[in-house]
Amino acid sequence: MSKVKPIGPIPDGYEGRDGELVVGGLSASELVARHGSPLFVYSKGLLTKRIDALRANMPEQLHIHYAMKANPFGPLLSHMIGLVDGIDIASGGELKMALEAGADAGHISFAGPGKRDDELRQAIKAGVTINIESPSECDRALDIGSREGIKPRLAVRVNPDFDLKGSGMKMGGGAKPFGMDTDLVAPTVQKIIAANAHWRGFHIFAGSQALKADAIIETQAQTIALAARLAEEIGHSPEHVNLGGGFGIAYFPGDQPLDIKEIGTALKHQLSKLPAILSHTQFALELGRYLVGEAGIYLTRIVDRKQSQGETFLVTDGGLHHQLAASGNFGTVIRRNYPVAIANRYGKPAEEVVSIVGCLCTPLDLLSDRAEMPAAQVGDIVAIFCAGAYGATASPANFLGQGAADELLVD
Ligand SMILES: *Cc1c(COP(=O)(O)O)cnc(C)c1O
Repeated sequence: MSKVKPIGPIPDGYEGRDGELVVGGLSASELVARHGSPLFVYSKGLLTKRIDALRANMPEQLHIHYAMKANPFGPLLSHMIGLVDGIDIASGGELKMALEAGADAGHISFAGPGKRDDELRQAIKAGVTINIESPSECDRALDIGSREGIKPRLAVRVNPDFDLKGSGMKMGGGAKPFGMDTDLVAPTVQKIIAANAHWRGFHIFAGSQALKADAIIETQAQTIALAARLAEEIGHSPEHVNLGGGFGIAYFPGDQPLDIKEIGTALKHQLSKLPAILSHTQFALELGRYLVGEAGIYLTRIVDRKQSQGETFLVTDGGLHHQLAASGNFGTVIRRNYPVAIANRYGKPAEEVVSIVGCLCTPLDLLSDRAEMPAAQVGDIVAIFCAGAYGATASPANFLGQGAADELLVD
């Protein structure tokens, strides 16, 4: 017997019906029969529910932005645009997708190091807010604005002098390619104001994928204090402060869902005692995976079942070319199992220990390592949960000539 490895927790909202996983009223077998496999399925209902619950817990005046790099699928993006207060983009390509999906340019902000002149030009022409990442990027944006005869809307992205503790990906604290160090912020804002551009405020993003409410609360307090300190130094109030995000989701065994009630309570308190210089400032959170990650699943069909040296392998028609993160090769140090199920034997008791692999000819293509599952056969369907964020968009679809999986938004 090989050693059993646990799987991550299956997110709330996934029901079984007659032994089938059901999403948006359709069973996994129906979905695959109609749309083929492999297939990403995203649930409108779960997306809406997630944002409603978040708003119910957060301060009323707080804006919620969607960082679309987590999932830029057009129909999902259009649905999200109707639910959030702003869309955060990170490239000219995302700008095009956001506008096509119906986003209002006035509610888009554009962050990311290495914005090209043509991307800055498109953004300035469209009227989106650009989060300026360096003094030289500021000069380029001002120059493009004056050549186009348009007053650019510019916020300054700050590399905070702290990080989000316990976050999966640190984006602040220490030397970073993101934003500018705090001592560069005031002179850059002065330059924006002197050039008669529209200074929108600050963007301060300290990290991603945190599951500890305390750490997020501490970071939000530090972020507000930093914004106040910088505003005092500049001598002007920012219209807008993007507080970053960092809200994580439970992917792995032992992960506990984030306590958003605790965060909301603390943030309400913070916003009720703002320093005078921030008293008219609009605050926003920018979230990616927290909004969309749990609302998506990846379905892939078993094409072979084989034994090797006493271990059982279920070989699927999917793999890391669609779900790189589940294989442990997207920003994780130690590989652990995502939440996984046999979708057409949903809720059935575990009967055997199996490894679920993709169809790629590389040992990296491991979707689930030695987990306990009901006995599955060729033709059965594997569901990988937490596939709504950094799935299709963050996987090497062309690897081995496989191509992209279809994506589907259901009710
Ligand atoms: C990637 C990114 C996000 C989204 O991160 P999540 O972990 O998906 O919430 C938000 N803001 C910025 C600046 C980012 O780079």
